[in-house]
Amino acid sequence: MTLTDAHTHRRDGATPDAVVQIEPDEALPAAGRFSTGVHPWRSARAAELWPKVEAMAADSRIVAIGECGLDRRRGAPLPEQTELFLRHVRLAERLGKPLIVHCVGAWAELLALHRHARPRMPWMVHGFRGKPQLARQLLDAGMHISLGERFNPATAAIIPAGRLHIETDTSERPLAEIAAAVAAARAAVRAERESGARGGNKE
Ligand SMILES: [Zn+2]
Repeated sequence: MTLTDAHTHRRDGATPDAVVQIEPDEALPAAGRFSTGVHPWRSARAAELWPKVEAMAADSRIVAIGECGLDRRRGAPLPEQTELFLRHVRLAERLGKPLIVHCVGAWAELLALHRHARPRMPWMVHGFRGKPQLARQLLDAGMHISLGERFNPATAAIIPAGRLHIETDTSERPLAEIAAAVAAARAAVRAERESGARGGNKE
């Protein structure tokens, strides 16, 4: 786990190496590390916003494409969101930049798209709150997972360190506090497992 803010909407207070989300209709700040894309919640405005993403994405200050993805509860109908998401996937592949993924209620679709796309670039599912079983499916597919203020402790414990990220997203909580909570959850689950194993040895 690295102490980099993998995804944040905060311009100030984020760590110096944070990946700050810039909306495609905003101006790219002079210095820093940024991501840009059309959020599924704004997918109805894709015709207007997508050309701006394409214009901005090749800039070296843009270190990731997104956040983009699928949200069954908000935004354009899922087929439209899927088409828009795949444009981000192709752009990320073309530019050699990782993808920051937002997914709500469309996990089977996301896994199927990943299987089909066979991307070279990592997909990082951000703000993941799901259970270990779902995390396992994403990890088996090769994806990365980013945890924020709210996460499932059992899930935090199964993500390999090299594919575990932390983020503030829209939270006001300092990244260090979120990192400490994730680390504590990992340690607690591990300690429980070890004491379970010791209990088993007594028999
Ligand atoms: Zn976000």
